Amino acid sequence: MNPKTCMFPFTSLSVSPRGSIRPCCMYNSPDMPTWENVKDLTPEVPWPSKYIKILQEKMLGDNIEVSTPLCNSCWEPENAGLDSHRLRYHRALKVLNDDLITNPKLTFLDLQFGYLCNLSCIMCHPEESSQIQKTIFKLIDTTSSIEQKKYYQSKVNLYDNHDWTVDEISYQKVLELCRPVKSIKISGGEPFFNPKFKPFLEFLLSKKVPIENLHITTNLTIYDKEIIELLNSFPNVRFRFSLESIEKEDDFLRWPSKWEEKQKNLHAYLSQLRTKNFVSNTCIQSLNLFSFFKTTNYLKNLNYNITIQHQIAENSLAGLYYSDKQYIQYYLKNNDKNFISNYLEKIMNHNNNSELQVNYFLGMAKLQNKNMQNEFPIWYEFHNKYIHE
Ligand code: SF4
Repeated sequence: MNPKTCMFPFTSLSVSPRGSIRPCCMYNSPDMPTWENVKDLTPEVPWPSKYIKILQEKMLGDNIEVSTPLCNSCWEPENAGLDSHRLRYHRALKVLNDDLITNPKLTFLDLQFGYLCNLSCIMCHPEESSQIQKTIFKLIDTTSSIEQKKYYQSKVNLYDNHDWTVDEISYQKVLELCRPVKSIKISGGEPFFNPKFKPFLEFLLSKKVPIENLHITTNLTIYDKEIIELLNSFPNVRFRFSLESIEKEDDFLRWPSKWEEKQKNLHAYLSQLRTKNFVSNTCIQSLNLFSFFKTTNYLKNLNYNITIQHQIAENSLAGLYYSDKQYIQYYLKNNDKNFISNYLEKIMNHNNNSELQVNYFLGMAKLQNKNMQNEFPIWYEFHNKYIHE
């Protein structure tokens, strides 16, 4: 098997918050709304779909990396020596053999459970969160820069607001997809905030083919005893939570979440869930570059054997790709070489538009009645040269 072949197109199907079909949740493109969508595929969602079949062929051809530019969210970190969604999935599959390629079989469903969300996380995208969508519309109204306005508009105008969890026909089609599958991953939006989430878990518990592995991702803002009881009824649950930082920094990055409440919820889930399979997802970006090890230490001190996964905020204006080069250089000079160093050295060679990021952060700070200089002094020191008003 070619070492670059990805098993996702041969075994999995991902449904985006707005119903687009793709092999995995990291397969991204601005024209996603034009892809095959649950709502249009009748009478049921086929697997492999036409588009996934094309990707299977590419994964069996030569020059896989060149022919699959939409997989860059895996190729970029892998080429910088970092872990990727593809590599994590291959480790979870345990057995990689040609049989899976010659006899593709849907065994894993990756469901982004609609886009209903209660947070405007700074690294998130309008296609994945109803809140960040509202926030970007507010930023469009308040920014005076034409370039900035255009950037925001390009992020919100593409979507038709279809949410497969709200559209009953789409929802029923996804239930059908779930029936024969044993492993399901659910993320969002924020699933715990979605009124369909508990009925959906009840459906999974009632179906004839039992769920062997259930992966859940939450932003930890909601504590719900009934959800705990439902999750405790599944044999294997992987409970994944998002933690970009701690204390007031996390409040800024995941606005309007409140650290005290989030911390309380985290302790409740850790102690009341039957599973001991906990994963923290920390998305490394411009504003937590100097603090992500502090977050790691916080998690280690909880003594719950939490697996810590670091991801790079790719395709996001909050990502390091848009940060000032001297800021990155300052980090590289003042910190021991670590897993992120190669990636940072690599992006030093790219041209970017830091002014877009600066205006975005200033706009977000204004909405939160906060000041970037007080909240993120190191970032501010290297980026205030881009502030013109
Ligand atoms: S290579 Fe990465 S982005 Fe592409 S299908 Fe595999 S996991 Fe998804």
